[in-house]
Amino acid sequence: MVASSVLGFPRIGANREVKKAVEAYWAGKLSEADLQKSAADVRKASWTKVQAKGVTHIPSGEFSLYDHVLDHSASFNVIPKRYQGLGLSPLDVYFAMGRGRQSEGVDVPASEMKKWFDSNYHFVVPEFSEETDFKLVFNKAVVEYKEAKELGIETRPVILGPVSFLALGKAAKEASADFKPISLLSKLLPLYKTLLTDLKAAGAEWVQIDEPILVLDTAAPLEKEFATAYAELSPVAPKIVLATYFARLDSNVDFVAKLPIAGLHIDVNREPAQLEPVVAAIKSTNIVLSLGVVSGRNIWKNDFAASISLAGKAIEALGAERVIVATSSSLLHTPVTLDSEHKLTAEQKDWFSFALEKAGEVATIASVLSGSQDAAISSALEANKVSIAKRRDFEKTSNDAVRKRVAAITPDMLERKSPFSVREQVQAKHLKLPKFPTTTIGSFPQTKEIRQARAKLGKGEITVEEYDEFIKKEIETVVRFQEKIGLDLLVHGEPERNDMVQYFGEKFDGFVFTQNGWVQSYGSRYVRPPIVVSDVSRPAPITVQWSAYAQSLTKLPMKGMLTGPVTILNWSFPRADVSRELQSKQLALALRDEVIDLETAGINAIQVDEPAIREGLPLRRADWDGYLKWAVDSFKLSTAGLQDQTQAHSHFCYSDFDDIFPSIQRLDADVISIEASKADLKLLNTFKNYGYSNSIGPGVYDIHSPRVPGAQEIKDRLKAMLEVLPGSLLVVNPDCGLKTRGWKETEASLVNLVEGARWARENF
Ligand code: GLN
Ligand code: ZN
Repeated sequence: MVASSVLGFPRIGANREVKKAVEAYWAGKLSEADLQKSAADVRKASWTKVQAKGVTHIPSGEFSLYDHVLDHSASFNVIPKRYQGLGLSPLDVYFAMGRGRQSEGVDVPASEMKKWFDSNYHFVVPEFSEETDFKLVFNKAVVEYKEAKELGIETRPVILGPVSFLALGKAAKEASADFKPISLLSKLLPLYKTLLTDLKAAGAEWVQIDEPILVLDTAAPLEKEFATAYAELSPVAPKIVLATYFARLDSNVDFVAKLPIAGLHIDVNREPAQLEPVVAAIKSTNIVLSLGVVSGRNIWKNDFAASISLAGKAIEALGAERVIVATSSSLLHTPVTLDSEHKLTAEQKDWFSFALEKAGEVATIASVLSGSQDAAISSALEANKVSIAKRRDFEKTSNDAVRKRVAAITPDMLERKSPFSVREQVQAKHLKLPKFPTTTIGSFPQTKEIRQARAKLGKGEITVEEYDEFIKKEIETVVRFQEKIGLDLLVHGEPERNDMVQYFGEKFDGFVFTQNGWVQSYGSRYVRPPIVVSDVSRPAPITVQWSAYAQSLTKLPMKGMLTGPVTILNWSFPRADVSRELQSKQLALALRDEVIDLETAGINAIQVDEPAIREGLPLRRADWDGYLKWAVDSFKLSTAGLQDQTQAHSHFCYSDFDDIFPSIQRLDADVISIEASKADLKLLNTFKNYGYSNSIGPGVYDIHSPRVPGAQEIKDRLKAMLEVLPGSLLVVNPDCGLKTRGWKETEASLVNLVEGARWARENF
């Protein structure tokens, strides 16, 4: 019998119950008991539905009210000092760590968040020091395992493994300079032993221990730590299935195969080529292989025939008893169910599988591989064949003009007409910006009125003409405001955009949208990624009317704003039938037309935002060059059609550029703005050390909080920056767009920013 498993399930609930309950609790409108009740209801619904699909290994314990890594930290008492002794309940300490807290005399910022591997999910980074006092304050895995058991559902608890937990964490401020979190392993293991002993006593047959760092290059030196940890844990634990995902084990499999584990999960959806080496490495052991064939990262219906053939190879080598058919990773990165989609056409709906449908897929594939003669299984197999064939037919309907255009891209299309040293002079004459020019990143406050107008348009309560009039008024307000406070390079404020990716997706051909395809980004923040389904093109100009209108209102230069090709792709569900490179280039060509149209309409500076370029970087270093080549080329393709006189800007939210700096340089943007107010000036030193010569706008204040920076603070920041970089390179701007801010703090902050820039002009 071939078993099936799901590595984790979305937490939001089919109707966003958990998100709503968590936010109501924060607003003081729901009690803790009611919050826990609605969380338990969602867990029950998920377990019941996944079980009904026929999955053998159903996950438990991975549910979270905010973030599973934060849950893990809180359970082990890994609570930074600043959150202790505030007189808060454990739940409020937990939320304070996740999102900060400012109330009744308590004022603590949130912990740092980081991107979860190469996904758009953020986890709360655990902080460790020599003083970390591990205590198993809450055995979440046992509690939720028992909760399911009481409902008559046998589950496979999921926990984050000890090595990944420590390796994903950082040294707390109070730790000594040479402290490494991994040094705490021997202190941590006894608690894992207790946790796992309790799980076994509660009746769990299996436990899924996630060690996702095993797909990183940085795991190789941790061989000894893995050996120690699992030698200690396995004698007391239920049968351990060690889970890895998102990339390949590579040579780490050599030591993983020697660990005393009962099962190993690998992602063969992303990395089918690792099947063979992994099978070879574990063949002579008793390790069961869990094969992640159904993607946990995208929403395309699985091709059963392909999965069956892949899993068949494993079965041939290891036997059916040693193979589990699984999702490639947790389904956290996919929406809950297609049943909530009522606007997709029947044809489109047939292309996709969301979390619940994916649970059905692993169960069906496992049944087929087990030789099931069940009529329902044969008809599911047949239906899948038909669906996949239809999709393949659809995939053949390419947009020939777009394909030809991509094939005809020549190297000269990636380069501006003249080098920056020439462009700089032409632009100085053309734009007439002062030294230390001031600008913003694009968006201004997205007020309730703006969101209401958009909602009314959506419901047909106002006409397109009325909506456009409303947007024009908003633009005029933003333009007059910038003139009044004395900014130099203006923006129109982006009031027409619901989201920087969705807005463009809706205007391009080749995308479809969901109504309820919510995917967790962090905490209670969920996004609805658009889906790329076919070749992408731009049927008509998108932003030109708005930027041109804004420019018509003022003599000052107006900057146009677009979202870059790599970011649109990274924050969408991409097609699986063609390469990401092809999709990115198609987007780049569509944006190139928009960029040139903006220029023709009299816009003299155009910003193409690429905040997601770093996040899309492959997890294995060996794969970086290939990605960076097409990612940077895509950006260049979108901007290089400009005349010398037009300034090409790009914007990145905080990114660790150190290791990819040559690629940042190769973008050859005239101006690049980066989030820099919270970081030390290390990043600017990198620019300096590489001899970067184009203009840079390191953010002078943090826009993520309503706090207003004083004028002196901005001057101090500029002064510190000027110690690293020559003033001729500096542009003065905030860290990022202002859409999440209110007008009051926006005005106060920007007034101070302008004062800071004027001071710099006089003194440097
Ligand atoms: N232009 C966008 C804005 O200002 C950039 C947002 C981002 O970088 N995340 O909102
Ligand atoms: Zn940004």
